Amino acid sequence: HPPQPAPDGVTPVMGQYLAAKAAQPDAIVFFRMGDFYELFFKDAEIASALLGITLTRRGKHQGEDIPMAGVPVHAMDGYLARLIRAGQRVAICDQIETPAEAKKRGSKAIVARDIVRVVTPGTLTEDSLLEARGANRLAAVAIRKGRAAVAVVELSAGAVDSVACALEDLAATLAAFRPSEVLVPDKLFSDDAVRPALDGSGGVVQALASAVAEPAAARDRVERLYGVASLDGFGAFEEAEVSALGLVAAYLETTQAGKVPALTPPRRSGESGFLAIDPATRQSLEIDRTQRGEREGSLLACLDRTVTSGGARALAERVARPLRDPLAINEGLDAVEWLLERRDLRRDLRDALRASADVARAVSRLALGRGGPRDLAAIRSGLDIAESIGGLFVVPANPLSAPPQRLLGCLDRLTLSPDLGRLKIDLIEGLMDEPPHLARDGGFVRPGFRPELDAARTLRDDSRRVVADLEARAVAESGVPFKIKHNAVLGYFLETTAKHAEPLFRAGPESPYIHRQTLAAQVRFTTVELSELDAKISQAGFRALAMEGETFEGWRQTVQRLAQPLQAVADALAELDATSALAEWAEEVGAVRPTVDSSLTFEVQGGRHPVVEAAVRKAGDPFTPNDCRLDGAPIKGAGACPRLSIVTGPNMAGKSTFLRQNALLVILAQAGSFVPAQAMRLGVVDRLFSRVGAGDDLARGRSTFMMEMVETAAILTQATPASFVVLDEIGRGTATYDGLAIAWACAEALHETNRSRTLFATHYHELARLEERLDHVSNLSMKAKEWNGELIFLHEAGAGAADRSYGVQVAKLAGVPPWVVARARSVLDRLEAEKAANDKLDDLPLFAVAEPPPPPMKSIMDEAVAALDPDAMSPREALEALYRLKALK
Ligand code: ADP
Repeated sequence: HPPQPAPDGVTPVMGQYLAAKAAQPDAIVFFRMGDFYELFFKDAEIASALLGITLTRRGKHQGEDIPMAGVPVHAMDGYLARLIRAGQRVAICDQIETPAEAKKRGSKAIVARDIVRVVTPGTLTEDSLLEARGANRLAAVAIRKGRAAVAVVELSAGAVDSVACALEDLAATLAAFRPSEVLVPDKLFSDDAVRPALDGSGGVVQALASAVAEPAAARDRVERLYGVASLDGFGAFEEAEVSALGLVAAYLETTQAGKVPALTPPRRSGESGFLAIDPATRQSLEIDRTQRGEREGSLLACLDRTVTSGGARALAERVARPLRDPLAINEGLDAVEWLLERRDLRRDLRDALRASADVARAVSRLALGRGGPRDLAAIRSGLDIAESIGGLFVVPANPLSAPPQRLLGCLDRLTLSPDLGRLKIDLIEGLMDEPPHLARDGGFVRPGFRPELDAARTLRDDSRRVVADLEARAVAESGVPFKIKHNAVLGYFLETTAKHAEPLFRAGPESPYIHRQTLAAQVRFTTVELSELDAKISQAGFRALAMEGETFEGWRQTVQRLAQPLQAVADALAELDATSALAEWAEEVGAVRPTVDSSLTFEVQGGRHPVVEAAVRKAGDPFTPNDCRLDGAPIKGAGACPRLSIVTGPNMAGKSTFLRQNALLVILAQAGSFVPAQAMRLGVVDRLFSRVGAGDDLARGRSTFMMEMVETAAILTQATPASFVVLDEIGRGTATYDGLAIAWACAEALHETNRSRTLFATHYHELARLEERLDHVSNLSMKAKEWNGELIFLHEAGAGAADRSYGVQVAKLAGVPPWVVARARSVLDRLEAEKAANDKLDDLPLFAVAEPPPPPMKSIMDEAVAALDPDAMSPREALEALYRLKALK
């Protein structure tokens, strides 16, 4: 790295900076200057605004002041985290040689610097920058020959996924991975088919040159990344998959500055392997985040009983990507059931897991050369726990109690190969119990592990002891109150005050005390013996440090070589944690095993909404369980169930809860989890859709009706007979008749064309008439009753449509002033009377064209007075009537 030839008027260091910036123009460059990272020009301005650090000026560039800001090296992680969270990328430009090395090249040479890494949201590996319980993923999207593909790498755990899918499934596929950063060829950046998927992914989008995604170039890069001659060994990839993987490989090349991470071969899964859940559905069901973006209050948070961060990530993955294959789902359920039935074993297993550290992330950091002794300790604990867990499962030879397939698979991965066994023993014998974070300062290799290291340490420590003795001897010999001190420049020295030093200057050449330095109040001396000891100590210390460094590097290389089997151990630990956590939760909430097959049945008895139930119970109220039966089978026998249920009932009666709870049960069952219900039979769902009406969406500040229609269009074009659709108050965001007509047409289409199992909540009671017109429609309503003039919600779903919507009563409950409520009630009475007289819905293709004109005020007043029967009124009713009349005036 020869210093860059500096352009005229540019200092050599600034020349180096400009070269680094030119290599990473889109990143904020952290430029190492001794103990600081310095930022210049625009970067300094951006960082100062985002981090609140002081903006100053340093020197001039082309006649202008150079804006500058700086952060201390030791505090860098915190600043990095904030910049990354703000969506920035940071290029770290470090000193790659010591000043002494630079001097060897010439007296004027400056220290060589180079970009050692680009930190981006999707490529973090530091614990301080990562959320422990969530995966951090980098995704890439490509389209070739009418097919889409998503490649995903979780750098902090070395895992790679590749999914090919149809264009319309791109958004669901991408959202399932919840990437922090998404790469896309710049040609697709504003492509209509891709843009919604990018927007819905939640990640920061990076456009790369489209050339990078060309199949031939992409294939080359991926093969280089894995160090293989041909990608075909990993499977027959579609062209789009190769392109997407190529984007990832190219990005890792630049951001990791050539360091090759330890990655597993791409795990391939067709979109057909998973329940497709698009971004809007994920949002509306609050699967792993609430609508406000918090984890607390989501399905995942309510469910999570894991005890390790790896387990938490595995559980999140399971819930984010439920399966579609009944066989695989049942294998997962077998494992949960087996652990559910063995409470003691489960407790021991969870106790063992609790003690294990984050092996996956430790391995990945070590492989990238960013790990330290503590990461080795994490691996040691993981390997140790892996072995003890194997022991827990040793059961007497009884075929009935043998663990199911999935658990056996985990135990298999936990059985350490001879190589891993050796590494474990090596780390137990060689690594201190509580090693320091950084390898740099040594002090992590156990005494007795390397004799030559012990020798160097003994020499260093013995000499230190001699030095300590020397102080007393010098004081006794000279009569001067010396203190032995140490600093980096002088090494060890004897220090005394100027007054006491006086006689030593007059002592003549035979005096053993050699003057080194005079400060304002102190004078410093050394002796021949002391400087010899000093040299010995520093040499021995240096040798010890070098040996520790070597030992660390040896271990690091072993970990890198064994990265795959180590990640397999980490995976198995994570899966055991996630599975036992599901069993734990099932026991706690009384969940049951669902029967999952490939029919088109949906049958729930006594289902509950896990999140609402937890909230309601916390408040001390009971949660009312509800049944739900739907069947998409084309041929129906006696007692057939509907395919589509229209759900009506007053606001606050529990419609949304009922709808969402059934969708969540589908997710849980297909994630291989027990479900909060008395019983459930489920024919696997291929795609799950959930939409809530415009009213509930206002908080997001979109053009709500338009959004709702866009999302509804997606359902009508994608839902199949194997899909499950939940629609809540569709069409509410427009004028009454518009909305009713749209809701009506959507319900008809879902029933006739998509033929999906559907729950359709609506406040248009007119839709109840669909039950008579269509074969597979039924009406459900959430029951409420009036009691003593109060409205009581039973939260019970029963057959039949709601007779009224109790809107006026709900308004009263909500504290709308009595005179407004009274007025509303009388208007309502009037409207209902009119409607009863005019109702011609049955003769029309749909409804009357125009709204009935509002009744004139006078007639309302007349009628209200005529309707009064003073003799039959209680005093309270009389008072209310008075209010009503007064309000009409
Ligand atoms: P809607 O969609 O009909 O307006 P929600 O589903 O939002 O009503 O329910 C309103 C509230 O009623 C919920 O927040 C919850 O507190 C309560 N609730 C709903 N369903 C139940 C139930 N099955 N058992 C007990 N409380 C319920």
